[in-house]
Amino acid sequence: MQAIRIHEHGSRDKIQIDTLPVPEIHPDEILIKVKTAALNHLDIWVREGIPGVPLPLIMGSDAAGIVEAIGSKAASNFSFSMGDEVLTIPIRSCGHCDYCMQGKDNLCRDFHIPGESIQGVQAEYIAVPAQYVLAKPRNLSWPETAALPLAAMTAYHMLMPKAHLQSGEWILIYGASSGIGSMAIQMAKAMGAKVITTAGNEEKIQAAERLGADYVLNYKTQAIGKTVREITGGQGVDVVFEHTGAQTWNDSLRALNKGGRLVTCGATTGPIVQIDLRAVFIKHQQIIGSTMGTRQDMVEILELVKADKLKPLVDKVFPFTEIKNAHQHLEDGRQFGKVILEL
Ligand code: ZN
Repeated sequence: MQAIRIHEHGSRDKIQIDTLPVPEIHPDEILIKVKTAALNHLDIWVREGIPGVPLPLIMGSDAAGIVEAIGSKAASNFSFSMGDEVLTIPIRSCGHCDYCMQGKDNLCRDFHIPGESIQGVQAEYIAVPAQYVLAKPRNLSWPETAALPLAAMTAYHMLMPKAHLQSGEWILIYGASSGIGSMAIQMAKAMGAKVITTAGNEEKIQAAERLGADYVLNYKTQAIGKTVREITGGQGVDVVFEHTGAQTWNDSLRALNKGGRLVTCGATTGPIVQIDLRAVFIKHQQIIGSTMGTRQDMVEILELVKADKLKPLVDKVFPFTEIKNAHQHLEDGRQFGKVILEL
C-alpha cells in the first residue's frame, strides 16, 4: 500500500509517498480502507519539527473509510461489519489510568494523537483500535467526514466540558475561517449563544455570516477588544475562544466580561503573554487550558451532525498524490474550511 511519510523534518520536499505492507491488525483492531483524510495545521508543525515525533512517520490525524477486516476481540466487543462506512477518532489513551477511568482521555499520561506522536492515517490502509472507530454520519460526504474529528473535538471540548457555554451567553470566537473557528461558531449557535467572530477579508466575513455568526469583525481594520465591548453594551463577552495567543491576548482580556471564561487551545502567533492579575481576581475571571478532546466528545458531536446543526466546511479536495500541493495550500492560509486528501 501507499502511505504519506516523512523521514526527516523540514520543508514540503521532505514529504514522500512510500510503499509499505498493509498493516496486520491486533485482536482489538479494525482494518480500514481509507477513502479520505484531512490535513490539519498539526501536519505542518509535525513536518517542520516538534518534539516527540517518531521517524519515519506516516502523517495525518483524521481519516474516514470502509471496514476491511475486524480483529477477534473487536468483533466480540463492538458491532462493526465488513463494508461499514466509518471515521476514526484522532486520539489514543491507555484506557485504565485514573484519568481514562473518569473519561478524561486527553489527560492520560499515555495520550497520543495519530500523525504526531504515533503513526498517522494518511495511508491506503490503517489499523485502528475499535474503540476509536465510529460510524460515518449518513448526511456527510466522505470529504466532510474526514474534515470533522480533530477540529470538532478540539472546539467542542473547549466550549462544553471546559467553558460550559450556556444558551444566551456572548462568546468571542477568533478565526472564523480556521477549522476550529468554523466548528466553534456552528456549535455555539447550536447551543443558543450569541457569537462575535473575526475574519480578515470581505469574502471570509460573508462566509462567517453564512455560518450563523451574529457579528463578524475585520481584525485587520477593527480594534477587537473595544468593538466587542461596544457590541455587548460595555459588558464584554462571557466566553473568549482563544487559539491565537500573543497577537490577540490583550484584546481577549479586554473583551472578557466579569465572571468570564477565557478558554485557550493554541498560540499560533506566540506563546508568551502578559496578565494583570488584579483584573483577573477583581473580575472573577477564569483562564482555562484545553487540548484535543475525548471519545465522549466525539459521540456528542456526531449527534449535532445528525441533527444538521454542524457541518464541517471543506475548502479543497486534493488527490492523495498531490500531498505537497495540499500542504502548500494550507500554508498559504487562503482557505475557508478544511483541506482534504482523497484516495
Ligand atoms: Zn490513561
